[in-house]
Amino acid sequence: MKSLFLRGEQVRLQEIPSPSPDGEPRIALRLAGICRTDLELAKGYMGYEGVLGHEFVGTLLDATDSLSAGTRVVGEINCGCGRCSWCHSGLERHCPNRTVLGISGRPGCFSEQLTLPERNLVPVPDSIPDERAVFAEPLAAVIEIFEQIPVRPMDSVAIIGDGKLGLLIGMVFTRHHTGPAFLIGHHPSKWKSIPEIPCIHENEIGNDMNAQFDIVIEASGTVSGLARAQQIIRPRGTIVLKSTMERSEPLNLTVSVVNEVTIVGSRCGRLPTAIRFLERTDLPVERLIEATYPLDRAKEAWKHACQSGALKICLKTKESA
Ligand SMILES: [Zn+2]
Ligand SMILES: [Zn+2]
Repeated sequence: MKSLFLRGEQVRLQEIPSPSPDGEPRIALRLAGICRTDLELAKGYMGYEGVLGHEFVGTLLDATDSLSAGTRVVGEINCGCGRCSWCHSGLERHCPNRTVLGISGRPGCFSEQLTLPERNLVPVPDSIPDERAVFAEPLAAVIEIFEQIPVRPMDSVAIIGDGKLGLLIGMVFTRHHTGPAFLIGHHPSKWKSIPEIPCIHENEIGNDMNAQFDIVIEASGTVSGLARAQQIIRPRGTIVLKSTMERSEPLNLTVSVVNEVTIVGSRCGRLPTAIRFLERTDLPVERLIEATYPLDRAKEAWKHACQSGALKICLKTKESA
């Protein structure tokens, strides 16, 4: 079967053996999304080699105890050992022995078929089309913010970064937060996909913005994002870090000590919560899709996703037609 495969820093479309029907439940890919993390993996993040991709919606090929074959599913990407204290407390995504779909120790979803443990599968209601369901994984990562920190109704919120994740965070905050929220970025052409949220160009951030925000969410994928977050956060405010990067640079955190800022790292969230969210709201996540390519043209899709300012680039198979 065809797969988009990472080896070294080379990404190529490659034939690999299909998964065995005797193992974990097989899923035929319908639609997958290319994420910034995929691009970072190709720069050496996590030292991963194998089939890329972790954002998907697919069709279950093998019936499980609770789901029949043919069910549309999304999947929790972290696969814990099932035996440690993290797994027993429902936090498999922190299991030290976990594998992660297309990121660590487990082939990803940019492929005709993938597999995941049965407990990771989440059925997708008919009311959610593929173009929305494919956002379940990144949306879960956004909703995670609300699980980790208290967001009070009138908190002023700044989101740094107008990439795919920053825009998605902006979308969720404009719908589910009553206080002022701003997005800081440098791609004005992308801002029209979220007309509900005021966007500011990073070059326009002056000293008048210093110490103005109760919550700053750093999703720029750049090292300078945290420095900017420290500049605009209020004393005793909370900075949420969403960027995972291969590159690192030294950063002086003294100002956060002086201002008693809380810094919270934030990664993956719960897929069932994201699916319920998509079912109950009309959040137009599908607006963030810039282009969809057939899996055969995955190399072209990859190139497109690598362009600065590209929104969500998707891969589809005949299943999704
Ligand atoms: Zn991702
Ligand atoms: Zn475990």
